[in-house]
Amino acid sequence: MSNSPTRLYIPAKLRRLNKLLDKQELAIALDLSGDPSYQRLATLLRGIDPPTGIRLPEIERLGIGALCYRTGISYNKVVEAYKQFKRSEAVISAAQHLPAIVEGIAIDAQPREVTCAQCEGTGEIQVTVGEETKTKRCIPCEGSGKVRQAGDPVARKQVLEMMELVGKGAMTINAPGANMVVGTGETLEETLRAARRGRQEAGTEQEQRTIDAPADGKVQ
Ligand SMILES: [Zn+2]
Repeated sequence: MSNSPTRLYIPAKLRRLNKLLDKQELAIALDLSGDPSYQRLATLLRGIDPPTGIRLPEIERLGIGALCYRTGISYNKVVEAYKQFKRSEAVISAAQHLPAIVEGIAIDAQPREVTCAQCEGTGEIQVTVGEETKTKRCIPCEGSGKVRQAGDPVARKQVLEMMELVGKGAMTINAPGANMVVGTGETLEETLRAARRGRQEAGTEQEQRTIDAPADGKVQ
């Protein structure tokens, strides 16, 4: 290493960067920071001489620490830029899952029909009085064998808040001619079902995940 005497003066902290980070990835992180001095370092990390735009082997040979030292960018600043970049990547990756998560919550929020526990789905119960056994219609399910189970309360609250139908940002959508009218109580369940049906009918278009705004654009 006799041909790179500057190496001797590079602080240990900066030299550590050579082991911790990948040059190309750090170059992308610095480019995205929008800071011109960071972008200059990004160019150098790609082995390119910033003023001329020419790739030079002597620049390519230098490690991250040496290039930081040259451009006067500290260890902490490089680490911070890299951290921001990774954080953004994590946010994007999480955001990609958001539609599926929201859809899952909406499905959990929906009421569903479940088998009646009283008659085990037969719609009838056996009543024995003395020696005699009679078959009677099951009262909880009214003979249907199914009972309605409310949607998950936490999911319901989340969906309704998300759609701003309850809570701080609550509003009433009352739009004659629009595809739905939102009221209170049971109607909300119907609303969610209608929103879901509407989306299914419209195919897989992501835009259909939201409640369609009224044609005149006014929300009262
Ligand atoms: Zn029953």
